[in-house]
Order: sequence, then structure tokens, then C-alpha cells
Amino acid sequence: MQFTSKLPNTGTTIFTIMSALAAEHKAINLSQGFPNFPTDPHLNELVYQYMKEGYNQYAPMAGVPALREILSHKIHQLFDFKPDPTTEITVTAGAAQGLFTAIAAFVHPGDEVIILEPAYDLYRPAIEVFGGIPVAYELKAPRYAVDWDEFAGLITPKTRMILINTPHNPTGSILRKADLEKLEALTADTNIIVLSDEVYEHLIYEGEEHQSVLRFPQLRERSLAVYSFGKTFHATGWRIGYCVGPAALMAEFRKIHQFNVFSVNTPMQYALAKYLEDENTYLNLSSFFEKKRDFFLSTMRGSRLQPLHCDGTYFHLFDYSSISQEPDTAFARRLTTEFGVAAIPVSVFYSDGRDDKIIRLCFAKTEEMLEEAGALLQKV
Ligand code: PMP
Ligand code: GLN
Repeated sequence: MQFTSKLPNTGTTIFTIMSALAAEHKAINLSQGFPNFPTDPHLNELVYQYMKEGYNQYAPMAGVPALREILSHKIHQLFDFKPDPTTEITVTAGAAQGLFTAIAAFVHPGDEVIILEPAYDLYRPAIEVFGGIPVAYELKAPRYAVDWDEFAGLITPKTRMILINTPHNPTGSILRKADLEKLEALTADTNIIVLSDEVYEHLIYEGEEHQSVLRFPQLRERSLAVYSFGKTFHATGWRIGYCVGPAALMAEFRKIHQFNVFSVNTPMQYALAKYLEDENTYLNLSSFFEKKRDFFLSTMRGSRLQPLHCDGTYFHLFDYSSISQEPDTAFARRLTTEFGVAAIPVSVFYSDGRDDKIIRLCFAKTEEMLEEAGALLQKV
């Protein structure tokens, strides 16, 4: 049979490749980003309770009202803006589906979408499958900051969307208030949509505040912000998140969403609605993960892998250039097969393959696992 691939240059995602390699070699898997500790038993109980009570049929297309209402309240508390739960919030099957649906809804063939590279690997294929043209702004080690004057040079009459991600995967950098203000000024009086990937909103350190697009009145009029319960509640396998945006954009988003997943699993939505009533469930996450980051770094002290900086996310970058000059893909593979710790090479997130000899390690793990990994990495 013959067919023309829509994504001729896309292979299997690095997360699948490295997790499979880790399993094959029984390596500690610090590659793909997921916690190895359990979800809160109370949250699990709530899911089971709603299942037993019979909440097992289709949820409303946009999400269970109680969940959208508590999310509206949460956003109001955090970002001083109260989205209308009826028209401005949609529950999605993970942030991935939210991002993909937003791109599907607004990117036409020939439209340009500016992304920050190194970029999470979903963005580029999602843009390309709808005929869009990804335009990369290259963030550079070690700080991975945006120079907004340089960034402005990428905007053309064809720019349909700007896709940002803060806290940023894979670099662990964050956008600050001044960054968002620059973005707000740059996009004022344009038809550019901002798609803001904020899945690590609660994983931000040193007392920094997460700068959501939703905090900025002009910016939020043109923005869709995407979140993930998988990241927030250690449940990446549940595939549930949400998208927030102004009613007109959200109506368009839902046109796609209704025929893509229709709606998201019902008992988990009810359980999350109840669970979110206690704001400590998410407000304590930063200190929880900051401790893990610091513990992991303490186990790495003395290693020849040089830590970069991590302001957010549960990823830490390490420079291995004092150990080897081999490509980062080869080094990550060798770390897995010879030293027993799986890592992600950062070059795969750059479209030009830029290789700064840097790998990403995930520290969303128990102290036991981090200690064991640290000991193995000391030997490299
Ligand atoms: N965006 C970023 C930056 C991510 O790291 C991930 C993966 N966790 C996602 C989106 C997708 O999130 P989810 O698992 O909720 O689909
Ligand atoms: N976001 C996760 C990471 O960066 C992976 C998600 C996935 O495998 N789809 O590691």
C-alpha cells in the first residue's frame, strides 16, 4: 500500500526510546519525566468512591461543572483573574491533547508558529501536521533566557501563534514578569494567539512566582493556557489536564475537542474537583520538589557532571563536556547501558541538532532512587 506520510521526518519520541532502553538494561530511569512515588491515597479513594457511586458515563463535553468551578476559583486565587467556568475552561485528556487541539483549532497551512527551542517534542509535529511552519527561537545554555529584541525579529505577517513554556522543559528555566510584559507589548494590536504551556506551574523554586499569561490582562485576551493534573498530582498515567482561554477562542477550541476526545474520564473529574478543595494539595508542591532537587544535587556533589541551573520543573540539566566530547545522544545511551542511569539528550529538542554536551535528568523520584542514581553517576 502506498501513502504519503504527513510527518516524514518524525520518528518515535525520545521518551519512549529512552524508557525502553532503561527497561532493557535495568537502568534507573531518570529520562522520561514521571514520578516513581505514588499518588495520594486519598485522591485514589475519591476516584474509587465516585466509580462506586456510578459516575461512569460520559462527562459533559467541556468537563464536569464542579471541576471547572473549582479550577476557576484556583485560578482566581493564584492569578487574580476569574475565568468563566462555563465558557473559558475545558478539561482535556492531559496537557498534550490541550496543546494539540489548540494548534489544530488555529493553525492553518502556511501559518508560522514561533516556538522556544529546545522545545518539548510535541510542538513541532503538531504544528506540521496541520501545515503550519515552526519557527524556532533558540534558547542558549547556560541561562536559556529570551532576548525579546531578537525574538521580535522572528515575527512576520504570517505569525499566527507564539508557543511559550514556563517553567520550561527541558531546561528548567522560567519566564519572569518582565518577559511576559515584553510578550504582551509585542503581541498588542496583532492577531497572534499565544499558546502557553504551563504544566509545571507548581514546580517553581527559590520563592519565585509562576508568571502565567493569565495574570496579564491584555495577554490573556489572546492566550490559551494549558495545565496538567498528571504533573501536579503525580499521576501522569491518568491523562487529564485543562485549557483556559477567552470564550471566543475556547468556542473554537471546543469545536475540535468535541470530535477528538469528546470528553474526559468522569470519575477522575469528580475526584479532582473534591480534592482541589484543599489548596495545600498543590501549594506545597514547590517546597516538596525543591527539596528533591537539592537532595539530588547533594548526591551528585563531586561528580564530573556539572549541574546547570534549575528554577522550575522536575528536570535538571548537566554538562558532561569535562567527561567526553561524544554526541549527547551517544552519551545518554552509554550512561544507560554502561552506568545504569537513563538520561535525555538535549540536542533532540533543537531542530538544528545543536549539541552543547548537556543531558537532562528527572528528579521526581524517591530519595532512595536518587541516592542510588547519584552513586552510579559519581563513577562516570
Ligand atoms: N508540556 C510539557 C512541557 C511537558 O513536559 C509535558 C509532559 N509531561 C506535557 C506538555 C504533556 O503533559 P500531559 O502528560 O498532561 O499530557
Ligand atoms: N513530559 C515528559 C518528559 O518531558 C514525557 C511525556 C511523554 O513521554 N509523553 O519527560
